[in-house]
Amino acid sequence: MSAYRRESPTLRYKDLANLRTGLAFDDVLLVPRYSKINSRRDADTSTRLTSNIALSIPIISANMDTVTEASMAVAIAREGGVGVIHRFMRLEEQVAQVQKVKRMESIVIETPYSLGVEAKLSDVRRLMREKNVGGILIVNDQGRLEGIITTRDIRFVTNPNASVSTLMTKRKDLVVGTWSKTTIEQAQDIMQDTRIEKLPLVDSKNRLRGLVTAKDILKRKEYPRATKDSKGRLRVGAAVGVKGDYLERAEKLAEADVDVLVLDIAHGHSQHAIDATKKIKKTLPETDLIAGNVATREGARDLINAGADSIKVGVGSGSICITRIVTGSGIPQLTAISDCSRIARDNGITLIADGGIRNSGDIAKSVVAGADTVMIGSLLAGTDESPGEIVFRGNQRYKVTRGMASMAARRDQLEKEGRLKPEGMREGEDVENHAEVDLSDYVPEGVEAIVPYKGGAVSVIRQLVGGLRSGMSYCGASNLKQMRANGKFIRITNVGIAESNPHDVITDI
Ligand code: 5GP
Repeated sequence: MSAYRRESPTLRYKDLANLRTGLAFDDVLLVPRYSKINSRRDADTSTRLTSNIALSIPIISANMDTVTEASMAVAIAREGGVGVIHRFMRLEEQVAQVQKVKRMESIVIETPYSLGVEAKLSDVRRLMREKNVGGILIVNDQGRLEGIITTRDIRFVTNPNASVSTLMTKRKDLVVGTWSKTTIEQAQDIMQDTRIEKLPLVDSKNRLRGLVTAKDILKRKEYPRATKDSKGRLRVGAAVGVKGDYLERAEKLAEADVDVLVLDIAHGHSQHAIDATKKIKKTLPETDLIAGNVATREGARDLINAGADSIKVGVGSGSICITRIVTGSGIPQLTAISDCSRIARDNGITLIADGGIRNSGDIAKSVVAGADTVMIGSLLAGTDESPGEIVFRGNQRYKVTRGMASMAARRDQLEKEGRLKPEGMREGEDVENHAEVDLSDYVPEGVEAIVPYKGGAVSVIRQLVGGLRSGMSYCGASNLKQMRANGKFIRITNVGIAESNPHDVITDI
C-alpha cells in the first residue's frame, strides 16, 4: 500500500461544499434604523479597554514603530483612547517612553525633578533641557525642600558655575502646599491668589513630596475626555513579545506604572502565546494584559483560559500585512470579530478589533460585530505624532508605515541588536561576533509602504469619532452597548460596494 493511501481519509477529503463564508467589512452595511437621537453630540462613545480601564472613545493606537511612541500615546490618551508603545527598542527606552507619557499630565507630580543645593547653573540648564521643564526643585541631602529655580531666575545669568543656592527662590519665600492635605481645588486657589505656576507639596518635616503645576490643572480642563489613571496621569499601554526578555520587560514596564501590557504575537493561538500569557499574569496579577492576535473562538477561549484580560482579534487584516498571502491563513475581520466576541462576552472579557480599519464606518461595523475597541495602525501613521519623518514623492507629502514583520522592520531590528549578518559574508567567517541572522532566511509577513501626511493625529481621531457617532445615530443607538444590541447587518454585493463609494463623478480635483 502506498504511503498516500494509508493516510486517514479525513486528511484527503475536505468538505468544500459546506464551507462557511468569512465576511470582511466591505461585505456588509449596517441597516439604518429609527433614531430619536437629536444630535450627534448625544451619542456616548465611552467603552472599556479592559474591565479595569474605561475609555471615552473606542480607539487605541497600534504598537508599530511607525505609529506609537510617547507622542502618539499622549495625543490619543488626551482624546480618550490609549496608545500602545511598540517593543522594537531597548527595554530601558521603552520604559522611558512609558514614563514620558505618565509624567505628561498628573494632578500631582509625585517625584518632581530636583537637584541638590550644591548644583550649578549648568546642571539646572541641562536638566531643564533634557526633561523639557521650566522649574527645578532644590532639596538638601535629607530630601528637605530648600528652594525652587525657574527659567525666570536664570534667564540673564551667564556664569555656568553660578551656584543654585544664590539664584533660587528660597524656602522661606516659597508658597507651598501640604502633602496629602491640600486638595487640587485648594492648590488651584493658592496658585491663583499668589500668581504662582508651581506649588511644591511638603510633609510636616518639610520633605518634598510632590508638585502641582498650573499647566497640569489647565490641561485637565483642556482635555476633559482624557484617559487617566487614579492619580490623574494619562494612561498608556506597552507591548511585549513572547520570547527573550519579555518577562523582565513586562516587570520593568509594570514598575513604570504602565496601565496595560499587550502581548504582541501575530499567531496568538500558539503555545508560546498561551505560556507567555500565563507567566505574565502569574508574575504580574495586578497588571492588565491584552493577549492576541487570534481570529477564532478556540483561539479566544485558550487565551482567556490562560488569564488574558482582553483579547485582540485580527489575523491578516492589517493594511501592511501579507500573512494571508504568504501563509494562506486568516479569517476575514468581521467574521473573526463576531466569532470571538461571544466567548469574550460570556467570560466578561473585552475584545479589541485589530487591523484593517480604513474609516469610521469600519469602526461602527466592528462595534456591531462585537468589538469594545479597535486598534488602528496605518491610518494614524501619516500624522505628526507618529515616529518618522515626512517624505516627498513629487510635491506630495507622505510618511512611512510598515508591518512589524516586514523585511525593512526586521533589518532595522537586527541591525539595532547587532545581529545582522553583513552582506556577502561567507559561511564560517567570524561568526562569533555576529550572532548572525541571515535576512535571506526571513519570510516577511508585512510590507513597507507610505501613507499621505495628514497633520495632527487629533483631527484624524476626531473625524473617526464623529463618523462613529453618526453611525450610532443610524443604528438608533445612544451608546455603544445599544449599538451592539440594535445594530443589524445586511450583506451586500460588489455592485453594492460600488454604489457605496463616490461614483460617476471626478473626485480627484
Ligand atoms: P492597520 O490599522 O494598519 O490596518 O493594522 C494594524 C495592525 O496590523 C497592527 O495592530 C498589527 O496587528 C498588524 N500588523 C502590524 N505589522 C504587521 C505585519 O508585519 N504583519 C502582519 N500580519 N500584521 C501586522
